[in-house]
Amino acid sequence: MARSGGFGVYVVIHGRTCRQSERVSVQEADDLKRLSVRVCPIDAHQAAAALADSGLGRFDGRETVALSVEQLRQASRATVAGADWQARFDAMLAYAAGRRWVTGDGASVRAHVTWSDEDGCGSG
Ligand SMILES: [Zn+2]
Repeated sequence: MARSGGFGVYVVIHGRTCRQSERVSVQEADDLKRLSVRVCPIDAHQAAAALADSGLGRFDGRETVALSVEQLRQASRATVAGADWQARFDAMLAYAAGRRWVTGDGASVRAHVTWSDEDGCGSG
């Protein structure tokens, strides 16, 4: 299912000028090898507001987002089909915990942020 290159699952944060109905969404949720956050060419304040509104997480500095494990699970599950997905999601969390990317209470997982400098994000 993953596209060539395999970026892994990512959360995308769109700006007001993006032609997307959802400002924040989970993409490629079936590919749990990597987890990251991508931000369209918008300023940090707008990105932080969009992410906070979505309930999916919050910025922890400019380079990192703390994603809610449960919100991420729910947003992803709506887009995946495989019966083994839940187990693979848990395995990803276990891996992240081993790398200390999961917060002490287990509620959030940290993901690296990529700030796009391209104009627009396509028609989606
Ligand atoms: Zn966008």
